[in-house]
Amino acid sequence: MTTGTHVQPLVHAVNVTKRFGDNKVLKGIDLDVREGEVVCLLGPSGSGKTTFLRCINQLESINGGRIWVDGDLMGYEDRGGTLHHLPDRKIADQRREIGMVFQRFNLFPHMTALENVAEAPVHVKGVGKKQARDEARTLLERVGLGDRCDHYPAQLSGGQQQRVAIARALAMHPKLMLFDEPTSALDPELVGEVLDVMRELAQGGMTMIVVTHEIAFARDVADRVVFMDAGVVVEQGEPREIIARPQHERTRTFLRRIL
Ligand code: ADP
Repeated sequence: MTTGTHVQPLVHAVNVTKRFGDNKVLKGIDLDVREGEVVCLLGPSGSGKTTFLRCINQLESINGGRIWVDGDLMGYEDRGGTLHHLPDRKIADQRREIGMVFQRFNLFPHMTALENVAEAPVHVKGVGKKQARDEARTLLERVGLGDRCDHYPAQLSGGQQQRVAIARALAMHPKLMLFDEPTSALDPELVGEVLDVMRELAQGGMTMIVVTHEIAFARDVADRVVFMDAGVVVEQGEPREIIARPQHERTRTFLRRIL
């Protein structure tokens, strides 16, 4: 969306706070992501990265601040300056515009790869079965699994299952893709094939927010790296710059530990 010379970011998060009981997990996160931008969220375990992703697509409701995706205020409607929670049905509509890939692949075990990918377009969007299956096949080819369409999840490796999960998210034509440590449950030799698919997606112009510990991926693919610790953004910037010359001690300590 363009107003004059000002291009509105696809994701616009302002002062987002989230707590679980007394545990303040997000302490005022600001983040803008432009359309087509790839942002990697780095930071130690427990710093709130997953929670922030889940807040963006309303798997968690926030306690303060606001998040817009493509101009839509997530989870709320603004009635004359007062925010009202959206009903679940409207939240589901908003969530449908956002693809999410989890650490665990969560495929339906009783469905083939093709059926897993075609399921939501048919049942949620009302796409015709033939069209959905044709599109699913194209997507599975795109993630290198054209010859695995009729396999069940148990017959696929972890890397293949995760690629099916990516194809399944893409089948809904999301505006934004969120990845929550998509390779951390994989055997090391299977990590590369999933990162390759993500790299191609990034090169194709998809807007992506990726929580990952894969520093090489962040350095090579991300447009920006955002480093979080203890519920705040500590620093952010051009990946090579942040990784080679972190400004903050917390970033330095974290990078020393994982590099
Ligand atoms: P990260 O992704 O950076 O490892 P998380 O967002 O998973 O961090 O977790 C941040 C903090 O929030 C942790 O202290 C975690 O225990 C807590 N937390 C996350 N989800 C829940 C939940 N559903 N209920 C209670 N506490 C949670």
